[in-house]
Amino acid sequence: MPILDLLEPLAHSPKRPVKPSRLFVRVGVLLALVILPAVGILSAGAVGDQSTTLYLPIIVNGEPVSPPPPPPPPGGPVVATAETDPVPSSGDAADDPAIWIHPTDPALSLVIGTDKDSGLGVYDLSGNELQFLPDGELNNVDLRYGFPLGDQPVDLVTAGDRASDTVAVYSINPQNRTLESVDSFSVGIGIYGSCMYRSPLDGRYFVFVTSEGGEVEQWQVSDNGASGIAANLVRAFDVGSQSEGCVADDETRYFYVAEEAEGIWKYGAEPGAGSVRSLVDSTGSGGHLEADVEGLAIYYASGGEGYLLASSQGSDEFVVYDRQGDNPYVMTFEIVAGNGIDQVTGTDGIEVSSAPLDPLFPQGLFVAQDTNNDDGNQNFKLVPWEIISYSVTPPLLIDTTYDPRSEEYRLPPE
Ligand code: CA
Ligand code: CA
Ligand code: CA
Ligand code: CA
Ligand code: CA
Repeated sequence: MPILDLLEPLAHSPKRPVKPSRLFVRVGVLLALVILPAVGILSAGAVGDQSTTLYLPIIVNGEPVSPPPPPPPPGGPVVATAETDPVPSSGDAADDPAIWIHPTDPALSLVIGTDKDSGLGVYDLSGNELQFLPDGELNNVDLRYGFPLGDQPVDLVTAGDRASDTVAVYSINPQNRTLESVDSFSVGIGIYGSCMYRSPLDGRYFVFVTSEGGEVEQWQVSDNGASGIAANLVRAFDVGSQSEGCVADDETRYFYVAEEAEGIWKYGAEPGAGSVRSLVDSTGSGGHLEADVEGLAIYYASGGEGYLLASSQGSDEFVVYDRQGDNPYVMTFEIVAGNGIDQVTGTDGIEVSSAPLDPLFPQGLFVAQDTNNDDGNQNFKLVPWEIISYSVTPPLLIDTTYDPRSEEYRLPPE
């Protein structure tokens, strides 16, 4: 239908002659909207068939709005298009990001990043700091949507505080895009890393905490009936040695944790999953990682497809694995200088979202901590997902259909 809209002036030329220049523009638009997308879909199709949202034009009253960007040059360098304001603390301070997707206007989405010496920064998608919460030594941050609190669902943010071995809990006010403190709770280990999980089986919410000793605790969090959080320890296990970065897959029900000197371990994310595990990848010979293994993130695509991403601090690189099966290795990339933004080195925490965050990141967003910011304290770099996708041949999947706010479980039960 939209494409017919564009073709219409060509088909009715006798009564409404189209000026050659205008025809040229129409054909140009047609090429941009139809031919290029087709190329994108075909090439992405080599990786998977879930990429049909690539470059689909949005037509309103016969005119395309927010025309899709042409695909980046294949094999091009991965560069950031935005960076956040520096964190307040000097030295090694910025650590781990989260991405919050606004419920109605994607342009109002947020990047939340920790300053592990002093608190939590909240940034818009251009990197401007909107809020800073001087709430302690918050090292890792994560969030989940639709947490039932009081009489309404809230978007819940949690961050582990290394100073007090507590988990700080916030809700996000979508009206003014600020974080509001909800509660905090103590855990039984010395907190190093933390991440969240929402079970697709029963909708329960959990916080995982990790420690320098390699211990992991899984805490179920729920409404305590008094506008606060009830936290109950539901599982504990030992990874072996210092572990920080972690991520849970809300669809496939796996929990991945980075044992910094060793590699990435995969456990079940449900509280009854025990301590059965498998090694996804390792440092040293035979592996694609160089210690420390830091942040982990999941790129959600349809049908259980997508990627697991890892931050390989020792090599200034990011490693991509298939989200399915035994998480086979896919590719490695680095973020080089470009667009007036310095390169990313010594990278720590990461996050990725496949959601269309128009207009700046219409095909998804990757965020990485940068250890050496050229113009101030440490900060976070923002990279459009399609630049990462097209840096390899065939390109990685671009699939913007996953809605983390949806409670629909999209995978068939095993
Ligand atoms: Ca995080
Ligand atoms: Ca670390
Ligand atoms: Ca870290
Ligand atoms: Ca840098
Ligand atoms: Ca910079």
